[in-house]
Formats: sequence, C-alpha cells, structure tokens
Amino acid sequence: MTELPPALDGLAARSVDALRDAVVRHGKVCYASSLGPESIVLTDMIWMQAPSIEIFTVDTGRLYPQSHELIERLQHRYGRRIKIYSPEATAVESWIERHGINGFRDGREQRLGCCAARKIAPFRRAVAGFSAWVTGIRTDQSASRALARSIEWDDIHRLHKVSPLLDWRDTDVWAYIHARALPYHRLHDAGYPSIGCAPCTRAIQPGDDPRSGRWWWEEGSSRECGLHPRRLDALVTAEP
Ligand code: SF4
Repeated sequence: MTELPPALDGLAARSVDALRDAVVRHGKVCYASSLGPESIVLTDMIWMQAPSIEIFTVDTGRLYPQSHELIERLQHRYGRRIKIYSPEATAVESWIERHGINGFRDGREQRLGCCAARKIAPFRRAVAGFSAWVTGIRTDQSASRALARSIEWDDIHRLHKVSPLLDWRDTDVWAYIHARALPYHRLHDAGYPSIGCAPCTRAIQPGDDPRSGRWWWEEGSSRECGLHPRRLDALVTAEP
C-alpha cells in the first residue's frame, strides 16, 4: 500500500482500527457511501483492510452522471461492487403526482418528503438486518455534526452508528485521496465540495460554507437530508 505521511498514517490507522472494532463488536456492519471525498477514504479503508463491511449507496434517480461514473471507477479499481439501492417506484410516482417533478423547491416540507421517498426509505431497506452502520461525517462539517460521537446508538434507525473520520479535517481527507491516487467525483474540481442530487446541488465560491451548495434556496436549513438528524437536545443518544 502507498505510504502516507506520518501524521496521516496515524490518523488513518486509528480509523481502520475503529472499522475493525465495529466488526468485532457488532458483527454485521454496513457502510452508507455518499460518494463524497470521505466516502472515497472509507471505501479504500474498508475494501483494503476491513472487507467484511458491506458498502452500499442510494441512487435516488436524480444523481449526476458523474456520480454513476465514480461508482464504476471505484468498482474497477478494487474489483468489487457497491450495492445500489433505489427508491420504490410507486412512492416516487405518487410524490411526483402530488408535488410535480421538481416540487422539492416549493418548501422544506416538500423537500424532506422527496428526500424521504428517494433517500431515507431505500436507506432503511439497506440497513435492515445490520447491527451497525458506518458514516463518513466529520465534526468540522457543520454545527450539528460537531455534536456527533464516534460510536452512537442511532435510535431512529435502531442500530449503532460508527463515524471513524470524526476528527479528520478536510485537508486530511484530500491528502489521503491524493497520496493513494484514489478516484473521486469529478465535480469536486469544479467548485462542488458537497454533492447530492443534481437539482439540489450547486457550485459555491471559495470560502463559502462547504454545504451551502446543498438546498441553497432554503432559509436556515440544517442542510441535511434526514439521515443525520441532530438537535442540541440530542435525538441520538450515546451508547452506554
Ligand atoms: S436531494 Fe433533492 S432530488 Fe434528491 S431526494 Fe432530496 S429533495 Fe429529492
């Protein structure tokens, strides 16, 4: 394996330990890949060093073509498949009938409804039967994510939630990607630090909040799709 700079090597080793520890403690573990830069790091760690963790992603039906292309590049590099979950056709058809094809722009309720049908419902099917899921969230990504802990009990999805990159900085993530010459989403080089569905993502200016290109029309939104809900009074409680 490519050598990492010493500081990054220690950080990466701790994250790999956290992944392996999750397997030892929880048995069936899955990783929900967002295809973002953190996902590239975790995919590399999992497929190279903790291969029993199942990697999946949700194809909402509104992703960029570059997202599909990235899935293929990752699969080609490692010779493995990312499991793809899709929304239920009837749920999407019914939502579109009620709100219109791009009705998620009409209000936060409509947007969360679209995310629920296209992302959350397939996610719930994907994690069913697992004891823990891995996420790539980092504390410096947003005020709500700053409250996350490395192992939590996810009371909403009823399984443990493991976040091995919590103390990584954005620069660590990119240093790892470049040191290992890993494939990454082509839109990151075009001003898109955080990428979700195409109609709900746009490029930002240098210095902007990295998540400000997601659902940018919403005032005061937490910029989350519902997978990482968190309030100061903690919706997700720490594991005993
Ligand atoms: S990000 Fe946008 S298109 Fe994608 S599921 Fe959410 S509201 Fe729908």
